[in-house]
Amino acid sequence: MASITLTDIVKQYGDGFHAVKGVSLDIADGEFVILVGPSGCGKSTLLRMIVGLEDITSGELKIGGKRMNDKAPRERHLAMVFQNYALYPHLTVFENIAFPLRLQKGQFSEDEIQRKVRLAASTLELEDHLDRKPANLSGGQRQRVAMGRAIVREADAFLFDEPLSNLDAKLRGQMRTEIARMQRRLGTTTVYVTHDQTEAMTLGDRVAVLRKGELQQVASPRGLYEQPVNLFVAGFIGSPPMNFLPGEVKNGRLSLPFADLPLPENLRSRVGDRSLVIVGIRPEHFEDAAVLEDSKREAGVTFETDVDVTEWLGSEQYAYIPFDTHPDVAAKLEELDRDLDGEGMRTQLVVALSSESRVRDGDRA
Ligand code: ATP
Repeated sequence: MASITLTDIVKQYGDGFHAVKGVSLDIADGEFVILVGPSGCGKSTLLRMIVGLEDITSGELKIGGKRMNDKAPRERHLAMVFQNYALYPHLTVFENIAFPLRLQKGQFSEDEIQRKVRLAASTLELEDHLDRKPANLSGGQRQRVAMGRAIVREADAFLFDEPLSNLDAKLRGQMRTEIARMQRRLGTTTVYVTHDQTEAMTLGDRVAVLRKGELQQVASPRGLYEQPVNLFVAGFIGSPPMNFLPGEVKNGRLSLPFADLPLPENLRSRVGDRSLVIVGIRPEHFEDAAVLEDSKREAGVTFETDVDVTEWLGSEQYAYIPFDTHPDVAAKLEELDRDLDGEGMRTQLVVALSSESRVRDGDRA
């Protein structure tokens, strides 16, 4: 196992394009870190630089405390699991898993290969499929074979590049849990690239959010959700996403398109006398007046609004509210099975600013 340290890593492609612009990140021994961001943000490039498939233009990469910039991929002792699994179709599951061991000619006896492959197969519950060819496996089983190949190498770290994006939603969920369980069991340092924020939020110890080649924030999933450093992270993490609304601050009060609220003391000093702000409200931060206790109702401002559409997801329900300039403001409803659909739907919601509301300067939010 090993730590991975990136210091001011830059990737400039031949055409002069900077895909990664000075990323620094410390990944501890045994840690599970997710690199997440929209398409083209540079997350795969960063991973490929760590594994050695792409040159590093400048900056330093250390694995286990040793500089690795110029080392060949096999000298880095890392195992990469690709999106398409890169299995050999003509080899059985056993031989696919054994492949990296056989590649190091003469280093492992046949007995050792048997032992290592069977151990990996039992960890991954593949014992019953060792004689099959990849074409006769499900997507999830293929994924596990690819992981088996990484396990037998006893690599210092696992690197995953969007390993679940070819799977259907149900299998993706299962494999997500399986990867999390396996990483915890093996305790191997893992870097995992995805554009899917659910994977990012459920898998990692820490999540690194990238945008246009720059690191925006590195934090625990909860840290990202509750204390995003800027509007990009705030809008990227969370589903439905955080609502952004224009606000105006005047005389210690905040005017929103639907309500006028007193600013708590601690926010008043932070916001100062600026007039225009962007207010971020997560869907669950609207309270449903129908079920709210009176005391809580008094702490906020109740407003009545039209509802465009409701979205019922089984365990939760969202109302979409049309404010003039912001037609799709999502509010989570406390009470399920409320029949709000139809013409002239209206509901009462409560919104409050608490002393826990945060102010960020970066994006005027
Ligand atoms: P995705 O989720 O779509 O895979 P990503 O975040 O993994 O995206 P990268 O594949 O790292 O993005 O690419 C980052 C940027 O670098 C993109 O704008 C891409 O077009 C560019 N890029 C990637 N490879 C090359 C290359 N060989 N030459 C020039 N530009 C490249």
